[in-house]
Amino acid sequence: MGKVAINIATGSIQKEEIIVGIDLGTTNSLIAIVRGDTHEPIALKEIDGLTLVPSIVHFDEYGNVTVGNPAKELLVTQPERTIYSVKRLMGKSYNDVSHDAGFFAYNIIDDNTDALVKIQVGQKFYSPIELSSYILKELKKRAEHILKTTISKAVITVPAYFNDAQRQATRDAGRLAGLDVLRIINEPTAASLAYGLGAKKGEEKTIAVYDLGGGTFDISILTISNGIFEVLSTHGDTYLGGDDMDNLLVRYWQEDGGEGSSDLGFGSSLDKSLMQQLRVTAEKAKKHLSTNDVFEGEINGKQVHITKQEFNDLVQPLIDRTITACTSALKDAGLTTAQIDAVVMVGGSTRVPLVKESVRKFFGRDVHDELNPDEVVALGAAVQADILAGNNTEMLLLDVTPL
Ligand code: AMP
Repeated sequence: MGKVAINIATGSIQKEEIIVGIDLGTTNSLIAIVRGDTHEPIALKEIDGLTLVPSIVHFDEYGNVTVGNPAKELLVTQPERTIYSVKRLMGKSYNDVSHDAGFFAYNIIDDNTDALVKIQVGQKFYSPIELSSYILKELKKRAEHILKTTISKAVITVPAYFNDAQRQATRDAGRLAGLDVLRIINEPTAASLAYGLGAKKGEEKTIAVYDLGGGTFDISILTISNGIFEVLSTHGDTYLGGDDMDNLLVRYWQEDGGEGSSDLGFGSSLDKSLMQQLRVTAEKAKKHLSTNDVFEGEINGKQVHITKQEFNDLVQPLIDRTITACTSALKDAGLTTAQIDAVVMVGGSTRVPLVKESVRKFFGRDVHDELNPDEVVALGAAVQADILAGNNTEMLLLDVTPL
């Protein structure tokens, strides 16, 4: 017989201990649960009101570890001690990542072999599994603090294209963080689950999941039949996302912005601090233009501005590349847009109106964007966790992946 516990935070009765859903992301990670009382999935929020934990780990010279926003603040000043994007290194050897080694500001050890990569910080060496485990430990700690209960079981999501080594590395990171990883599920599957797509017995659906984050883009085509998810195809670009939009805006203000920058005098050789200000303002402008027609700001005492139309013209080529990937994914799945029953939007960059419009136009249908695109994957992982906990007997789930 199961234990009965009352959760102090949600006031609900739990049959067993809570199983959490975790989105272990390239830029941000977060943790979600299904509420016992309302059966709604929710992202866990700390007192700071934030659900997203930047996937960034900092080591000071004594080996003390900080994770998340405090670590993010040290990115610029202590690049060699501040590890970001570790997900890109999971299950990889140096030979796998040598071509994009320039992307990382920290030291990846080149031992010229097929052994798994290590990252050097000071005199110490860390594996991507260890680094990811620090992020997971932080998420576990947060959840325990918020829910006032011990957390030891989790469902963790991974990209559909992750191979066995990358999935195993994710499991190992969970174990190292003190989590029993009950299931590794695909991110697009989780996003579909969050919207309850394919939730009914006997339901058959073909779904496109469009995921544009800060640094990566994925499009996946899935089918759901009798609770069985199958990824038919997946395409994308591991170096395409919102950061590239910011960079285009920086360059626009820096060089060829015409009227937008004519009196700025920002040459090509900016110092680090000015460059950083330009980047921060570019991201702010981009977000502002998601709900407004004009952005006006100031950098170093100089005025900068950009209209929504100018921004759209700037980022159109990036969006076109994602649409080309959608065409390829459909072709690989042997389907046409007319055969897609639902389109799900994932990732912070899908808030850009032109992105939404372009995806709508391509698939010829409205898209699911009702849930927070930053949270939707974690919410779906929580739904899967709830099913495994035995709280939701409506669905039987499997998660089949392509090779
Ligand atoms: P993710 O990796 O899914 O957390 O997505 C982060 C990306 O979403 C970053 O590039 C953000 O700048 C971008 N983003 C977040 N909010 C908005 C917004 N309101 N409009 C446009 N882009 C946004």
